[in-house]
Amino acid sequence: MLEELKRQVYQANMELPKRGLITYTWGNVSGIDRETGYFVIKPSGVDYSSLKPEDLVVMDLNGNQIEGIYKPSSDTPTHLELYRKYPDIGGIVHTHSPEATAWAQAGRDIPLYGTTHADYFFGAIPCARSLTQEEIAGEYEKNTGLVIIETFEQRRMNPMYTPAVLCTNHGPFAWGVDAADAVHNAVVLEEVAKMAAKTEQINPDVKPAPDAIRDKHFFRKHGKNAYYGQLTDHREV
Ligand code: 13P
Repeated sequence: MLEELKRQVYQANMELPKRGLITYTWGNVSGIDRETGYFVIKPSGVDYSSLKPEDLVVMDLNGNQIEGIYKPSSDTPTHLELYRKYPDIGGIVHTHSPEATAWAQAGRDIPLYGTTHADYFFGAIPCARSLTQEEIAGEYEKNTGLVIIETFEQRRMNPMYTPAVLCTNHGPFAWGVDAADAVHNAVVLEEVAKMAAKTEQINPDVKPAPDAIRDKHFFRKHGKNAYYGQLTDHREV
């Protein structure tokens, strides 16, 4: 079932260790087939060196396991909440990549300091609030998804314009139109996190880049008036 999607999600998972975003099994990628409403996700705790496409688990949006011999990622309920809320999301990534995780542990948004960031993220990358004791003791992974959604709702942010979030004391989630796009955004997030920390180290009084720079660079690459690269590159967001 969903063999092509499994192949895509497998490749996206394998891109994480290749790009240096994964230590041991600290992360996972999923991708969804919107026609069936089924998503494919990495099995929990399975090492990347032994992972095979057929090991991936198929889930429905009610949390039922449809196929697969392994247990799905422990973060599956977080992925599920995001897929349910945002129909434009086609793939989701979670990592503990050190630069982005450092900002999450510090409980800080990553400010938009330059065009590298603005090419991919329309404004600061938000850091979601800490979960309450009850939220942690209860359905922790589901509540992680709900707190991400709460962050985007409260700040009136478009998740397809800012395709990443930091979870306080935990790490980043990134997403995209499919699993490969989600991984691409996770890789860029890690670079942007590193640059932002260095920027503040060099100049502790630095201010975010002007909105005009943010708008110019974001809309140069995204939306109907985009003109960067080749015509097929532009995301319709
Ligand atoms: P899984 O192996 O269950 O996907 O967990 C990885 C992880 O990073 C937990 O936060």
